[in-house]
Order: sequence, then C-alpha cells, then structure tokens
Amino acid sequence: MTLNNLTFQTDYLTLDGEFYDFTTPQPLESPYLIHFNDTTAKLIDLDTQEKDNPLFVSLLNGTYVPKDVRPFSMCYAGYQFGNYAPRLGDGRTINLGSINGWHLQTKGSGETLYSRMSDGRAALPSSIREYLMSEAMYHLGIPSTRALGIIGSETKLLRNNIEDAAIVMRLSPSWIRFGSFEYFYYTKAYDKLKSLTDYVIAESYPHLQQEEDSYFKFFCEVLERTAKLIAQWQAIGFCHGVMNTDNMSIAGLTIDYGPFAMLDDFKFGFICNKTDKAGRYSYGDQPNVAYWNLTMLSKALSPLIDKEKMQQKLDDYGEFIYPNAYIDVMRKKMGLLSEDTQDVKLITDLVEALHDSYIDNTIFFRTLCRYNGERMPIFELAMNPIPLDNWLNLYDERLKKETRSQEERQEAMLKTNPKYILKNYMLDKAITLAKEGDFSMVETLHHISKHPYDELPEYEAFAQETPEELKNICLSCSS
Ligand code: AMP
Ligand code: MG
Repeated sequence: MTLNNLTFQTDYLTLDGEFYDFTTPQPLESPYLIHFNDTTAKLIDLDTQEKDNPLFVSLLNGTYVPKDVRPFSMCYAGYQFGNYAPRLGDGRTINLGSINGWHLQTKGSGETLYSRMSDGRAALPSSIREYLMSEAMYHLGIPSTRALGIIGSETKLLRNNIEDAAIVMRLSPSWIRFGSFEYFYYTKAYDKLKSLTDYVIAESYPHLQQEEDSYFKFFCEVLERTAKLIAQWQAIGFCHGVMNTDNMSIAGLTIDYGPFAMLDDFKFGFICNKTDKAGRYSYGDQPNVAYWNLTMLSKALSPLIDKEKMQQKLDDYGEFIYPNAYIDVMRKKMGLLSEDTQDVKLITDLVEALHDSYIDNTIFFRTLCRYNGERMPIFELAMNPIPLDNWLNLYDERLKKETRSQEERQEAMLKTNPKYILKNYMLDKAITLAKEGDFSMVETLHHISKHPYDELPEYEAFAQETPEELKNICLSCSS
C-alpha cells in the first residue's frame, strides 16, 4: 500500500466530544527523515519503498493529512507522583486513527488543548530514545507501543539546552491509560466512564464482550496483564522512571518512554529519573507502584464494578498474581523447566546476591546461559563474587532436579537472556552523534535491538560492560 492509499478508522471519535479535541498539527521547519521502520510499516501494510516518498516526512510533520483524517488529541487525567492532576491529555500528541488495529500518533506536533502552557514539542534526544527503545522492548518480547518513523527539523526548542525539535510516529493497539478512566470518574461523568469501558473492552479485550460480569473480568485482566508486564520489566532490568497513572496502559503495554533506563549493575534502589528525588519510581519499587496504580484504577472503576471484588483481586496481585508472574520469568531466565518449592528462595537469594555483587545484570544472565559448573567466567564479572559463589551452590543443587540436558538448557537460556539491550550510555552516544547530523548510530542501535538474542560479532562492543563513568545515567522528565 502506498501512503496515499492508507485508510484510517476512527472508532474513538464515536465517543462523546469530551473524550478528545480536534487538533491541527503545527509543522516543524525543514523536516527531514531520520529513520523509517520497515518492521512496523508491515503492520499497517505500508510498502517499505514509501520510505523514499517525501510524503512520509509530510505525514509525520502534519503537512500531509490523509483525506478523511481529522487529527485529534485525547483527554485524560492522572496521578503524577501521587498527586492527582485533573486534566492532562495529549499535550503534544495527535492521533490520526487506526489501520489494522494499530492506532497512529505523532508525538511533538505542537500545542493542543491539553498542552498546559508547554510547547507541544518533543526534543530530538527524547524522540530518539523513545523511537529506539519502544522497538527494542518489542523485540525482547515485552509488550510495548511501537514506532514507525522519526523526523528531525531545524525548529529550535528551549530545554536544558537548545535542542532541535523532532517528531516520532508511534503506533499501538491502544493509547488508553488508567488516567483516561480517572478523568471521567473524578468529573463524575459515570455514563462516559461506562462508554469508555465498553470502548476499551472492544478495543483490547474483545473476548470479554459477550461475557457475564464483563466489567469485573476486564479489571481482572488489566491487573493480570499489568502484573506480567512488570514481571518482565523486573526480570530484564527495565526502569520506567515515570509510572504515573497517565503512563499506565490499560492494555498492559509499556507506554510513554521518558527518562527510562536499563540497569547497568543490578541495584534495587536505582532511580533513573532525576526529578524523582524520593525514589518513588525506583527499579525495586515498580511492582508496588503498579499495585498502587491498579488500586487507583479500581477506585476509578468503582461506579461500575463491585469494590470488594476488586479489592480481593488486588490482594491476589500481591499474594500470588505478581509473585507467580515474576517467578515464571525468572525460572525461564535461570533455565529451569520444572517447578520446585525452593524456587522462591533461589530467586530471592539470586536477586540479593546480584545486588551485593556489583555486577552487570545483562552480562551476568548471558554468562549464566553458558554455565557448566566452571565459576570463573561469572566471578570475573563481579566486584564482589562471594555472594554469587554461595548462590551457585544452590543453583548447582537445583539443576540436578532438572531433566533437560545441559545443552538444551543453554540453548533455551540464550533465547531468554539477551546479549544486546539498549543502555542509556549507548543511547546517549547515538544522540550526541545525531546532534551533529550523524544518524549512523541510530541505525546501528535499531539493528542490534532487533536481534537481542543473536551473536553479532560486528557489534560485540555493544555487549560489553558499561564504562564505569557512564553507569547509572539518570535523566529528567523535561524533554
Ligand atoms: P509524560 O509524563 O512525559 O508522559 O507527560 C505528562 C503530561 O505532560 C502529558 O499530558 C503530556 O502530554 C504533557 N507534556 C509533556 N511534555 C509536553 C510538552 N512539551 N508540551 C505539551 N505537553 C507536554
Ligand atoms: Mg505520558
């Protein structure tokens, strides 16, 4: 399909006018293509040759608006660092509609009704980060929004420094957030809360449409998807950085990439967001924050669903839904096929040992994939190997209970523990070069993030330990 043949659907616009505002994109000056993503183009049946069509840049820049498309921004609210903000909304994002169930948005297209005194723009650095990381997460098997393309421009923005403005075209099966529900709950617009719930069930939980007690089941599934998502974040070492309820996807996806980070050395208390002085969104607290956010969602849904039933489900989250989701992913990471009553202890001990060892999280697990009883390769990674030495005694015992051969286990682990992830220092380098007009590293990082589990000898440098002075880079929200 060529760009002029794309047809968009806009079911969201059948909702009441309070759900959105029609918006006119404000184009950037001298826009140019930075990257086009062949993989996501296929999702919307877009010919990959359209990369070279100048209309693609115009589509992202908003100077080409396909016929029948009326760009709009969505209204939502949210708890930001624990404080309720009654109206947020897409302050810098406009929606075009959906193709094959993928809702397309441009981020950085100028002011909207929801911009709240900000400029509606996105700077080049944060745009590159979102563009690359959302795709990297997908290829790691972690539910995420996606990205189709990114453009740069000569429009200047005032941030911490003067930055070029950019626009990312993102796509997702849903852009609805916990905060979308909060908006209609706190404005007491319960009829609209109900139409939003029906809309979201049709969009992201269609199998529940004909079910009895479908609203409660919907809440349960949101909770379960969220638990699984956070378990995957914890296992890979992803720190979101701004888990406000407006940044929590109702479809259980990683959404709104800001000052995120992948752990360098494993540290429970790692905070990736400079603005988060109290560490509300530290790495180790993410499962608890998700629980808090789900509790806020249950409150917003309380006009539609029995509170006690939701509370029971929330209790289950803490008691076994989240723990089981986490244990499942960690078992896979450790290459364990069978289940053992001691696995919880094995995992808890591992996490404590990692925390105390000063060791790169990703490289540790990748090295564990090839573990054959010889401990030196692991010890060499750690500043303090003693805690891991003790843990490996437990692991050796546990492996004896497995029926799979060592080769089979290693093969499975190599497909579970990535060799390549995007660390902040790599993204930083790509951004420094991009500011000089060199986008080659954006291309390189895009390439390696599509092959996280492969051996790519050419890109070995990206699988090494983070240089000491570049570890634990912490970013701020303003971008
Ligand atoms: P975030 O936590 O980055 O997802 O953003 C929180 C809220 O601030 C959302 O409503 C955004 O649309 C809005 N926002 C962030 N940056 C800008 C900006 N430069 N202009 C307008 N709105 C913004
Ligand atoms: Mg957001």
